[in-house]
Amino acid sequence: MKFVVLSRKSSLYSTRRLVEACQERGHTAQVVDYLRCYMDITSHSPKVLYQGKPLDSVDAVIPRIGASQTFYGTAVVRQFEMMGVLTANDSQGISRSRDKLRCMQLLSRQGVGLPVTSFAHSTKDIDGVIDTVGGAPLVIKLLEGTQGIGVILAETRKAAEAVIEAFRGMNANILVQEYVKEAGGADIRCFVVGERVVTAMRRQAPPGEFRSNLHRGGSAEKVKLTPEERSTATRAAKTMGLSVAGVDIIRSNHGPVVLEVNSSPGLEGIEEATGVNVAGKIIEFLEKRFAKRKTKKTPPMEENDDMPLNDD
Ligand code: ADP
Repeated sequence: MKFVVLSRKSSLYSTRRLVEACQERGHTAQVVDYLRCYMDITSHSPKVLYQGKPLDSVDAVIPRIGASQTFYGTAVVRQFEMMGVLTANDSQGISRSRDKLRCMQLLSRQGVGLPVTSFAHSTKDIDGVIDTVGGAPLVIKLLEGTQGIGVILAETRKAAEAVIEAFRGMNANILVQEYVKEAGGADIRCFVVGERVVTAMRRQAPPGEFRSNLHRGGSAEKVKLTPEERSTATRAAKTMGLSVAGVDIIRSNHGPVVLEVNSSPGLEGIEEATGVNVAGKIIEFLEKRFAKRKTKKTPPMEENDDMPLNDD
């Protein structure tokens, strides 16, 4: 098969591993910087052009779209969908997962376990928002944050009010969440490929920190999931319409709760911590999808994939 990995840089660990996994399985792989792609969207045969040439006879695309480039990145993925090319994640799934609030609303509609979460536009409603999540301590999150930046633990009601007021004063969108103390500064990254969790790692925050992100100095090890945790992770990915997803959950007293669903989950941390060839699992999944597609002869755009939930 001919694969395209949409990524800003071929030297990034995840990009490199995906290319390696393609080659190990006898395929060709080209790394394409999606910000350098341009598109012919008006013609009867839609095209993506790169370095002056159309990208044609591509069998599958693996999008690795950076959070700050979602708008253009998803447009490029959508163009491949219009061309009938198989994509590891479709453009809608990627867009959905980038908005934490939307993500939470969709998961809640499907009955997936979530921490009690509240959101308001006006600072006049701060009291109500804080009460909704059961008062302090509570967690405040910037909707646009990643890697734990903009995730704050407010120990007291006064601190919570001050932080919410400050963020809202800067016009930043935030959500307020119950603090799941019993998680003990740990979360679990479940790596979903297709309808399965292919591996999972438990990340532990360093002492004095409640955020377990590896970028914040957390440590990671392979973890065995309960059946409930497994099904929570696969249902969350399915709800978002993602075939490849990193689903972050924490263990609360009322079962596993989902914090986030990531559509371009990094491979470095998880492959190192678990020893599982996650890149290989992704390629294997796409091979199967591709073979199924060939026998089904489904028209472009409709099949992409069996799972999207059409919310827009
Ligand atoms: P980001 O997307 O920036 O990583 P998260 O929502 O995943 O933000 O939060 C970062 C980390 O903070 C999580 O991995 C988890 O360890 C911790 N955390 C987040 N929300 C809560 C919460 N409600 N209760 C307890 N810990 C939390």
